[in-house]
This record gives sequence, C-alpha cells and structure tokens, in this order.
Amino acid sequence: MTEPIYLDHCATTPVDARVLGAMMRYFANHFGNPSSIHRFGAAAREAVERARAQVAGLIGAESDEIVFTAGGTEADNLAILGVALAGVPGRDHIITSAVEHHAVLNTCRHLEGRGFSVTYLPVDGTGTVDPEEALRAMTDRTLLVTVMHANNELGTVEPLAEIAFNARRRGILVHTDAVQTVGKIPVRVDELGVDLLSLSAHKFHGPKGVGALYVRRGTPLAPLMFGGHQEGGRRTGTENVPGIVGLGEACALAAADLPVQMARLMELRNDLERSILKIAPGARVNGHPFRRLPHVLSVSFPGVTGDALVRELDGRGVAASAGAACTAGETRISHVIAATGVPPEHAPGTVRFSLGRSNTKEELERAVSALAASLEALKKP
Ligand code: PLP
Repeated sequence: MTEPIYLDHCATTPVDARVLGAMMRYFANHFGNPSSIHRFGAAAREAVERARAQVAGLIGAESDEIVFTAGGTEADNLAILGVALAGVPGRDHIITSAVEHHAVLNTCRHLEGRGFSVTYLPVDGTGTVDPEEALRAMTDRTLLVTVMHANNELGTVEPLAEIAFNARRRGILVHTDAVQTVGKIPVRVDELGVDLLSLSAHKFHGPKGVGALYVRRGTPLAPLMFGGHQEGGRRTGTENVPGIVGLGEACALAAADLPVQMARLMELRNDLERSILKIAPGARVNGHPFRRLPHVLSVSFPGVTGDALVRELDGRGVAASAGAACTAGETRISHVIAATGVPPEHAPGTVRFSLGRSNTKEELERAVSALAASLEALKKP
C-alpha cells in the first residue's frame, strides 16, 4: 500500500520533528510555571522569552510587541474586539473584506450587534480587494481596517501595504490576519504598515492551539479576559509553555528555509496546475494568476461537487479540501468562492490543493492520476 499524499497544508501541517523535540523538554523536564521565582520558573520564563524573540524575528517586530494566544482565531478576536473595547471616541466603524476567515467575519458581525457599523469590501474575480474602494470606505468615524494578508481558500495575496498606508494616514488602526502567510512567504510588519497581525503555529509545522498577536507599541488594546498579569495583562492565564516553545522553534525553522521552500513549492504547484488542466481542460483555476501564495492551487471542476471529488480523492489516497477546512462537509458554496463570482457551473466543484515541505514531484504525478480516475468515476451515472 502506497503512502497517502497530503495536499491540505492550508488546513494544517504536520509538526516538524525538531519542533516536537524542543517542545518535549518543556512537558516533563522544564515543567515550571513562568511566574514562579525559583529556578523551575526561571527556565520556563526564559523559554517563553526566547520564543517571543523568535516570533518577533520572523515578522520584523520587537519582542514586547508579541502576545501569545491559543491560535489564530483567538488572535483575530483579541485584535478586533480588543481595539473595539479600548475604543476611540467618535469612531464606531470597521472596514473588512467579504473573503475573510470566519474568525474575522463573525467577530465583525458580533460588533455590528453592539452598535458598530461594518463595511464588507467586495473582491474582484481573483479575490483581490481594490485599495481605492477601501480608501473610499474610510471616514473620520473609522476605527479599524482588518483585511487578511492572503486568502486561505484562493491563496490570493491582498494589496495590504497600500490599504494600510491610506488607513494609518487617517489615524485608522490596521489589523491583518496573516495566518496563511507567516512562515510561508516573507512577512514584515513595517513593510506591511500594520498595527496588529495574527499568526498561528499549526499552519507552519508548529503545534495546534497556539499562536500570537503582534501589537505595535502604543496600539490601544483592551484585554478580553481578566486574571493575572501574564502577557502584560493583555492575555492572562498560565502560559502554554510547550506550545509557545513549539511556535518559536517553528518560526526559527521557517526563517531558515523560506526562500528555498517558496521557489520549490511554486515550481511544483505550477507543474500541478498544468497537469490538472491537461486532464481536465474544462477546469478553472481560481485566485490571482501571480499575486498568489506559492503553494496554493484552487481549481473548480465542472459537473462535480467539491465534496464528492474530495471523497473520491481520499479513497485513492489523496487529501485535499473542498473550500476552507472549517466549512468542509457542507456542500454549500463557500463565501469566498461566491464573492469572487465563480460561474454557477464551476463553483460547486471547487477543490483546494495546498502543498508543503514534504511533497515531491512523484507524489504530485500520482495525485494527478488519482484525480483523473476520480473525475472519471464521478462521471458514471
Ligand atoms: N485565519 C485564517 C486565514 C485561517 O486560515 C485560519 C485557519 O484555518 C484561522 C484564521 C484560524 O486559525 P486557528 O486554526 O489557529 O484558530
């Protein structure tokens, strides 16, 4: 039996053995509470601070601008709700995009029920927000712009720097959900010009349930939970030391081989795209033709549903995703695909292939054969 082929790295990634090795020491040997003043506490505290520097290093931030959270969803919630709760008098308007992850969309919707008004910017056919449209939406009541760095279903990279430049000149805070980009492409907070940025370890070979929010110095942010003094009072509770160590290690590893992996994955992804269009000439590739994450390929196949195709592929040992992982299992067209206006004959058959470090050319050739067989099987009445 051949090994299954994992092409769902946007959903999650395997924990790197070196990350796991680093974490293990903080479960059993260095199990101290970072708040304790004795040597056990000091060892844990040092590990947390080392990880903070590793995270900051990967995104060009200062260590004291990193707040550890329990993942990307919490980082998004802390950013948006934290800014809203801190409040700026006279500012009760938020701008976001129609293609955000639900961690952002549903947080914005929650605030709509609490007296905030929210503008959901549309996207074009490639999933890109128009910076001019974002600018037109900004008013003197706008408190926050939250636009993702790259989309998790399409891979499209948003023109964030331009949007952020216009917002910050008007005194508007800028948050970005960079969960799909940190560890995958270069991310520098100053180049993007953002005040807040969310990231999540499990998307780049770290453990699940740990992430971070970058908070630029001086950004008003209210805590969402109350308790002790941890994370400067911005996120209380005893730190997830092994998880934080794993996140730090994953950041260090990503920083070391980012350019090499990007080039390798882009070549593999482009080959995969060409091969798929050869066996399925009626298929449509989604997302931006070149402003797209190097490892992501979203394709819409006519005459099938994404769910059925993903199940057929799974039966042949290939793991892909129909829409975002958190909405898979439902055959409804994802809000992202709907927002890009994919035609109705194509939209239901959308599948995302997302590549990672371990994938090889040979695996992708096998995946294309499995895809051809799956499409053939679904044609049969
Ligand atoms: N934001 C984006 C763009 C994502 O893709 C995800 C995960 O799929 C999240 C946020 C949520 O991150 P987490 O799974 O760490 O809560």
